[in-house]
Amino acid sequence: MDQKLQVYNSLSRKKEVFKPINEGQIGMYVCGPTVYSDVHLGNCRTFVSFDVIYRYLMYLGYRVRYVRNITDVGHLVGDVDTGGEDKIAEKARLERLEPMEVVQKYMNGFHEMMKIFNTLPPSIEPRATGHIIEQIEMVQAIIDNGYAYVKNGSVYFDTIKFAKNNDVYGKLSGRVIDELIAESRDDLKNQDEKNHPADFAIWIKAAPSHLMRWNSPWSVGFPGWHLECSAMSTKYLGKTFDIHGGGNDLKFPHHENEVAQNHGACGCAPANYWLHTNMLLMNGKKMSKSEDNSITPPQLFNGESKHISKSYSPMMIRFFMLQSHYRSTLDLTDEALLAAEKGYKRLMEGNKTLQALNYAGKNAAGNLDKEINDLIDHIFEEMNDDFNTPKALARLFELVPKVNGLKAGHLSFDDITAYTLDRMKSTFQVFIFDIFGLKNEELATGGGNGAMDGLMQLIIDIRQNARANKDWDTSDKIRDTLGALKIQLKDGKEGTTWTKD
Ligand code: AMP
Ligand code: ZN
Repeated sequence: MDQKLQVYNSLSRKKEVFKPINEGQIGMYVCGPTVYSDVHLGNCRTFVSFDVIYRYLMYLGYRVRYVRNITDVGHLVGDVDTGGEDKIAEKARLERLEPMEVVQKYMNGFHEMMKIFNTLPPSIEPRATGHIIEQIEMVQAIIDNGYAYVKNGSVYFDTIKFAKNNDVYGKLSGRVIDELIAESRDDLKNQDEKNHPADFAIWIKAAPSHLMRWNSPWSVGFPGWHLECSAMSTKYLGKTFDIHGGGNDLKFPHHENEVAQNHGACGCAPANYWLHTNMLLMNGKKMSKSEDNSITPPQLFNGESKHISKSYSPMMIRFFMLQSHYRSTLDLTDEALLAAEKGYKRLMEGNKTLQALNYAGKNAAGNLDKEINDLIDHIFEEMNDDFNTPKALARLFELVPKVNGLKAGHLSFDDITAYTLDRMKSTFQVFIFDIFGLKNEELATGGGNGAMDGLMQLIIDIRQNARANKDWDTSDKIRDTLGALKIQLKDGKEGTTWTKD
């Protein structure tokens, strides 16, 4: 099956047959979060997308080394090379914390959110601050190869020289280098240190007030943001590895500059396949806090946002994300979430019904047997077509009426073999739980639809009656008992909902 896998390579702008460097093994690097604030839903979309890719590659039988970094230094406010404050240092100053306290706090929050969304941890999660030596060595290699210069203790990548000598710069992001050179020339007078505006800092001399600083041959300073990914991917995956991923907002300058640094240091391309996820939107526009057009994952889970009519469970949100292809934008609207919730419940119910079916036929293959097997084959074909989760899901949904028909007796077991029923059962299990990474959350939150929901509704009704009758003893007892069980009730405009820690 694995020979058929095709992935869309941002570098060639087309789908290519996937061929790993070493047979049976895959090295995959994905740019992780900058941990200076709570992880936002857009980040979650990207990491859920790569989680499904990771899971599918493992399902295909590959041994995957998945490296996803934590950016804990060097990402400057405004993404300028110099002059801007480090995002983490700025937050530390504002919150009066040590930079590493900021990092720890938001890294913990990020891990918790990844767990809530049921994403598998990467094989290695390297931090930029833990790899300063590797980054200094890479800067030195780039200088030795003539593609970087030192100015006042900072080191700049010589983009123009690199672009002239290598037919590489601009390929990934689609920038035309001649235009870059021409357009940037006008700004030259504004640059105090760089030889050219297209150059970028790979080592930055720290101002006296700068909190995060390390010794280096050039100055006490800190590495440029793009450098960490080049250094850490090389360390853990080798000079050239299979897949490099991230959101498409990182194509330029981050990934373009990563490619340049790797060539500059090692003389070869970092990755064979570049995979980029598309952005999360809300109500058709970029999700943005400043435009009052954003929602946080906790708000989605507790329903406390004017943008949504009710709460949605984490697995429901994960399912919603899978309904779009990772290269398409994902538009979050209340209507789309409501529709996805129905779909999610239908799929989970369909699977429950399917798993409970006992074969009762004559083990003969009729038309129905072929139809079911064709649909199952299609599910894999869709996934092999650049991880097309929405189409794979659609095929699963086409199987649900077959399941319901077999249960109700409109369709006959005589038309399928026992093998086909088993194949359908295992396909549903494998796709829903192992590849799509959904999980049964009936016992974990109020978003499920089983006995627990029914029981909780009963308790909520009893509590409401008790409160209406001013029977505070009963209502307090319910609240305290639920509290001891770590179940929280939330009274909202849509009635009372519950969550469990
Ligand atoms: P950051 O913490 O901003 O460096 O981003 C971490 C990862 O999330 C990167 O791979 C980004 O490309 C990705 N990302 C950031 N914003 C969004 C968004 N709105 N939608 C999807 N992915 C995003
Ligand atoms: Zn990166």
